[in-house]
Amino acid sequence: MTQHFLLSAASKTLKLKDIYKAGEEAAYDKFCELRWVETGGEPVCPRCGGLDAYKIRSRRKFECKACKHHFSVTSGTIFASRKLDYTDLLAAICILANAAKGVSSIQLSRDLGVNYRTAFVLAHKIREALALETDGMTLDDECEIDGAYFGGHIRPANNAFNRIDRRLKENQTGKRRVVIALREREGRTLTTVGKSEAEGVRFAMDHLDRSASLHADEASHWDTLDSFFPVKRINHSEAYSKDGVCTNQVESYFSRLRRMVGGQHHQVSGKYLHQYAAHAAWLDDHCRESNGTLANRIIRNAMTAPVSRQWKGYWQRAAA
Ligand SMILES: [Zn+2]
Repeated sequence: MTQHFLLSAASKTLKLKDIYKAGEEAAYDKFCELRWVETGGEPVCPRCGGLDAYKIRSRRKFECKACKHHFSVTSGTIFASRKLDYTDLLAAICILANAAKGVSSIQLSRDLGVNYRTAFVLAHKIREALALETDGMTLDDECEIDGAYFGGHIRPANNAFNRIDRRLKENQTGKRRVVIALREREGRTLTTVGKSEAEGVRFAMDHLDRSASLHADEASHWDTLDSFFPVKRINHSEAYSKDGVCTNQVESYFSRLRRMVGGQHHQVSGKYLHQYAAHAAWLDDHCRESNGTLANRIIRNAMTAPVSRQWKGYWQRAAA
């Protein structure tokens, strides 16, 4: 029997204990190296692009010699005005890289010994940064499309006498959302959140190259795509896969997302569902990479992601 990748030594190149053993200085250097890859970790002024800076090492700040701008390694990035030590930040990234089904903010706050609010915002900033990896991307070759509904569950009443028909619109909460996933076989997975699966038609039109071909199930709204791409259809009431036609890869993505939502987050607000969807897609797309590579990816993505409009000062705004 072949060994599962996650059990192999190749999948484990980063350890929490090593992060803490190496200490704050080493963690800080890692952020510098991954922010300023082109200069081997030497600072580049975010305002004027100047390569010469005074290092205020004790405060981990820089002053640009050309324009006198003060900056740090996280200035202008999604980690700007971070409160955590670099070791804790790196540890959080390691924990997230290790969690194949994501990790809840409560668990992250316990592991790091930080308050829930800090962990919640940090995890969401990381998810936002990861999603940028596929921002504006189009897919070609063989792709699969499908949707899966989340949320809006109504618990049936205990007594059968009191139960309502949960299929009727008037008996629904209006909170149900659909995640639509477009996946290139052996390639990337793009996701969006809507109210109805039919919105996936527009999504496919916007994110598929004209050279792409598509596999989809029998749902009638996909018929529209026939005029633009070669679309192969699989009737799931007959078989899940027939003559190479299937949506199995996109289904396997949904299975990861369901385990993430059900097992880690338990309930997710429709407002944040797109971030969990993107996180699961990122995990699926990179599932054969070691945790060290994943952590480096997270840092690199975060160091190139701009300050978050949604998550910067989130709790201050929430309290106002
Ligand atoms: Zn400058």
